[in-house]
Amino acid sequence: MIEPGQLVMLVSPKGKRYFRVLQTEDVLNTNDGQLQMQNVVHQGYGAVVHTHLGRAYTVLKPTLYDLIKSVKRRTQIIYPKDIGYIIIKLGIGPGCRVIEAGCGSGALTTALAWFVGDAGRVYSFERRQEFASLCRENLEKIGLESRVQIADGDIEQGFGIEKADALFLDVRTPWEYLEHIPGALIPGAPVGFLLPTVNQVSSLLSAMQDGSFSSVEVLEILVRRYKPVPERLRPEDRMVAHTGYLIFARLGAP
Ligand code: SAM
Repeated sequence: MIEPGQLVMLVSPKGKRYFRVLQTEDVLNTNDGQLQMQNVVHQGYGAVVHTHLGRAYTVLKPTLYDLIKSVKRRTQIIYPKDIGYIIIKLGIGPGCRVIEAGCGSGALTTALAWFVGDAGRVYSFERRQEFASLCRENLEKIGLESRVQIADGDIEQGFGIEKADALFLDVRTPWEYLEHIPGALIPGAPVGFLLPTVNQVSSLLSAMQDGSFSSVEVLEILVRRYKPVPERLRPEDRMVAHTGYLIFARLGAP
C-alpha cells in the first residue's frame, strides 16, 4: 500500500519511466494502455501492475538520481556526479535558504528543492522566460514546486534577497555578478560556480581576488563506469570526459 500524495516511478516493459504524484482516482495513459493508479496504491513499491492491455509496469520509489535523469531539458544541465559534490560543499540540508542562477531546465534546482525540505527555500533566477517555465513544469511534475521561488529575471540587477545560507551560479559570466553576492548571504556562507572552460575559470578567479572570498577551490569530477560482468570486469570503452569545472569559496576574508 502506498499513501496517496507519494511520488512513484512506473517503468514500462521497454524501460520508459513515468513519474506521478499518486492520486487514487487517476488513470495514467501510457504507450501500452491505461494504468489505474488505484492498483498502484494497493500493490505498493516493487510490485508489477498491468495496463488494460495486459502490459506489465514496475512500481518503484524514485531516487533523486532518477528525478534528475528525467528532467525534460532544453539547456545543458548539471550532472548528478557534480550535483552530489555541490550539495555537500554548499551544506544544503533541511531548512536552508539557497540562491541559484540560472535555473535552466532545473536539474540542480530539483536537487536543491529535494534537500531543503518543506522548511527551506530555493530562490532560482532565470533570464529566459521559456526556461523559467520549463523549470517550473519539471518541478510540478514531481511535486517539489512549493519549495522553489522562480524569478524570471536577470541577476545583473542583484538578487533582492538577504541572509541566504548559500549560493550557486551556473551562468556564462559569473564574475559580472560577484558584487551582488555579499549583500545576499550570511557572513562566511559557502558559494559555488560551474564553468565549462578554463578561460572562464581564470576570469572568475581574477575577479575573486578582490578580498571578498576565501578558501577558494577548483576541481572537476570524473566518473569511470565499469561493465558489470563478474568474469570480465573492466571499464566501459567510452566515458564522459568533461562536463564542467567546479569552483567553491567562502564569502569573506579568512
Ligand atoms: N543549472 C541548470 C541545470 O542544472 O539544469 C542549467 C543552467 S543553464 C546551463 C544556464 C542558464 O543560465 C541558462 O538558462 C541562461 O538563460 C541562464 N542565465 C545566464 N545568464 C543569466 C543571468 N545573468 N541571469 C539569469 N539567468 C542567466
